[in-house]
Amino acid sequence: MLAPEVEARPWAGQLDVDDAQYRAQLTYLFEHSAFYREKLGAAGFASDRAAGGLQDIAQLPLTDKSELRAACTPANPIGTHLCAKPSEIVRIYSTSGTTGAPSFVPLTAGDLDSWVTASARSYAASGIAAGQRIVSTYNAGPFVAGAALAAFDRIGLCHIPVGTGNTERLLLAIELLRPEAVVMTPSYAAHLVDAAAERNIDLRSSTVVRVLVAGEPGGGEPTFRAKLEEGWGAKVTEAMGIGDIGVSLWGECEEQHGMHLGARGFVHPELVEPETGRALELDDGASGELVLTHLQHRAAPLLRFRTRDHVEVRTNPCACGRTSPRVRCIGRTDDMLIVRGVNVFPSAVREVVSAFAPEVSGHILVKPRSPGVKQDPPLPVSVELAPGKTPEAALAEAICDRLRNVLVVQTSVDLVPWGSLRRSEYKSKLVEH
Ligand SMILES: [Zn+2]
Repeated sequence: MLAPEVEARPWAGQLDVDDAQYRAQLTYLFEHSAFYREKLGAAGFASDRAAGGLQDIAQLPLTDKSELRAACTPANPIGTHLCAKPSEIVRIYSTSGTTGAPSFVPLTAGDLDSWVTASARSYAASGIAAGQRIVSTYNAGPFVAGAALAAFDRIGLCHIPVGTGNTERLLLAIELLRPEAVVMTPSYAAHLVDAAAERNIDLRSSTVVRVLVAGEPGGGEPTFRAKLEEGWGAKVTEAMGIGDIGVSLWGECEEQHGMHLGARGFVHPELVEPETGRALELDDGASGELVLTHLQHRAAPLLRFRTRDHVEVRTNPCACGRTSPRVRCIGRTDDMLIVRGVNVFPSAVREVVSAFAPEVSGHILVKPRSPGVKQDPPLPVSVELAPGKTPEAALAEAICDRLRNVLVVQTSVDLVPWGSLRRSEYKSKLVEH
């Protein structure tokens, strides 16, 4: 543990510390954030005192990404939630939003430091330690993932940035520089298993013993993870953040039972029902949309920000000694479809289908027949076959049956030849509207 006095503090004690920070953050918001003065005022909270403490937080309105976008003007391209003076801002990242123009994420020196501190705790949870080598493949550039790279310096690693998109260079760096770890998206980790096999390179015999995945959900799906661990001969753990709140806020430990909150003390986590926004208890086994609140942010703090990440929560004790709740991301609520009242995540469909390996490649594409979230059954799913396999009606039927039994969804499965679904080296697309 990088900071055992923080990471192993009993969670109830953390909430006491956080309550004081939260009240101070609310005072700061009422003083400096035009966005929150207006939003909270409209919801009937005229002052920080009226808004109460952490135990009252669920009374306050949620913040949606679209509201932040709507608060941007050419004169104020960051938005009215900007609190700090221009002279206090030391970095401005962009989020690689899936919808339209990027949005800007400003940080003060203190904000940047807490991002790096949290990210370092999250990555260190995986077991990588000072003196080891890590190859990174983030094409971070303007994007918040760039801040995660500073976390590797903080841990004391030898960082070898290689970037995405040049498989030869990456495989050569692994062979010649002999790193203990690599960090990449789960899609890219899977792509490299195939790419290495095509070149007769055995990743299992490389020096890499840890594959750290982040940037998209999927690294925690058991079948997909097993495939990655088999292909790399290495332990796979994942990390997760959300651009507007912080990079690598969560990081999984060597027990591999979900990601701990590395950003504890900087960020307060909540769970809500995605359809209604109703607050849910952060209990063991609960699932819902993750909502995050900054506790000591200065540049553009957010309150009850909807992450659109659908997570499952674990609060039972973890053998590593870290006491924060853990999460596993099931998928993006943006990708979620509702088929006859049942929530369906494309990543969950992929998980079920992947169990049919070695018949299938593990690549799928969900193709909803109508726009929007609500879909009538059957839901069309293209399932890619493994190399050299031919489509068999019995296999399609077996996949349909398994999807109906496990996910309670009626699908029509179309078996397509190996290589026919588009690959993305960075993040895979599972739905095509
Ligand atoms: Zn743990």
